[in-house]
Amino acid sequence: MPLETISLEDISFHLTEMLDVKRLCSRDRFSEHDEAVFDAVLKTAEQIAGDLFAPHNQKADQNEPTFDGEKVHIIPEVKDALAAYIDAGFMGIQHDYDVGGMQLPASVAMSCSAIFNSANVGTAGYPFLTIGASNVLRTYGSDEQKHRFMEPMIEGRFFGTMCLSEPQAGSSLSDIKTQAVPQDDGTYRITGNKMWISAGEHELSENIIHLVLAKVPGGPAGVKGISLFIVPKFLVNDDGSIGERNDVSLAGLNHKMGYRGTTNTLLNFGENEGAVGYLIGEEHKGLFYMFHMMNEARIGVGLGAVSLGYAGYLYSLEYAKNRPQGRHPDGKDPTSDQLMLIEHADIKRLLLAQKAAVEGGLALCLYAADLVDDENTSPNEKDRAEASLLLDTLTPVVKSWPSEFCLEANKHAIQILGGYGYTRDYPVEQYYRDNRLNYS
Ligand SMILES: Cc1cc2nc3c(=O)[nH]c(=O)nc-3n(C[C@H](O)[C@H](O)[C@H](O)COP(=O)(O)OP(=O)(O)OC[C@H]3O[C@@H](n4cnc5c(N)ncnc54)[C@H](O)[C@@H]3O)c2cc1C
Repeated sequence: MPLETISLEDISFHLTEMLDVKRLCSRDRFSEHDEAVFDAVLKTAEQIAGDLFAPHNQKADQNEPTFDGEKVHIIPEVKDALAAYIDAGFMGIQHDYDVGGMQLPASVAMSCSAIFNSANVGTAGYPFLTIGASNVLRTYGSDEQKHRFMEPMIEGRFFGTMCLSEPQAGSSLSDIKTQAVPQDDGTYRITGNKMWISAGEHELSENIIHLVLAKVPGGPAGVKGISLFIVPKFLVNDDGSIGERNDVSLAGLNHKMGYRGTTNTLLNFGENEGAVGYLIGEEHKGLFYMFHMMNEARIGVGLGAVSLGYAGYLYSLEYAKNRPQGRHPDGKDPTSDQLMLIEHADIKRLLLAQKAAVEGGLALCLYAADLVDDENTSPNEKDRAEASLLLDTLTPVVKSWPSEFCLEANKHAIQILGGYGYTRDYPVEQYYRDNRLNYS
């Protein structure tokens, strides 16, 4: 089914003409790729998003996940869509070949993300978190942790989460109370509650790998005492098989105004003997490691906002081209043909404002993704350092500007559809509700 929620032509224009992405193919990491490969990957994303993500976007919104006290139930289309996503290799899109990845540039990976997000941001939420978690393990995990937890994420057998917030500690992470007590065998026992955890429980994967911020007793006060742990839903045996259930349980699902297809959870860790956790890196450096994931997540949130803005823009553009309504101010003859909405000056303004926000937002996010590639792979140290500095400066803008202005774009899309725009028979009100969460 053709994907009508984002323009592949626009994405390709940015990659080819603005960013000259083919220059990356002269670098060792990407030397096995060429522009034809990048095109093929984008087209595969477009096809899977059109065939399997977009068709259940509205159904997933109207049929939120439910919890029966034992299991979470999600409409079956979500698992089918994710199976195709995994089969096509998207979970490992940036990872190394030797762990089963595709070793593609961040700019291409993020372009694919934009395609999936525009089609169905709720279903795309599961791989978004899994990719983020696997990236943290790639950078900071031990070889053993990579083998046991990251590689199954790349295979799509395990999904991931990030567990920072607690019921009493959101913006101020220095006040988290979750504790990690060291054990003689080198593991830790985790106890505490984590709130707002996206994709925290479901039956979509064999296992869920939670990355959990917690404090080791006796450590420094505030953020300097926070460490990062791997806490799997099921323990993983030495041979890689799924072991016994860890002491992590779902206290309940949160029901939000948007992103309804992604479960949002309150998780209890260690209500019984304590959840088994494995320290990532060194004690007390957890926030630093997590911020690696958070920085990528910030670009991802900006891009998610662009994608939803784009979907609303294209829908309202098509609507405005086809809806006859009224006449020109200087041609009020009631027997004359009506104009299409798009011919009214104020509707043009609303369309152009959306176009500026979504195309500008896309350019900004893909530029940031390209800086990630330069930061990681530029042959010259000075260029890597400059890309890194610019990325640090731009990342908060990349997160916040699209979240504000592409949400405005969604408001304009609703306005163009008039009374119809506020009804659930049309997709634009859902885009607005979904996008409002990117603004948080
Ligand atoms: C869709 C969605 C998904 C999420 N997924 C996850 C997830 O997967 N994992 C996770 O750990 N968390 C997740 N969160 C939680 C999110 O990170 C927290 O909601 C956020 O950190 C805010 O915490 P809080 O809700 O406790 O609000 P509070 O911290 O109580 O803040 C309330 C308001 O006060 C403002 N405020 C707070 N402190 C200050 C200050 N010093 N100066 C000025 N204003 C201030 C905040 O900006 C906010 O507007 C998610 C949230 C949303 C909306």
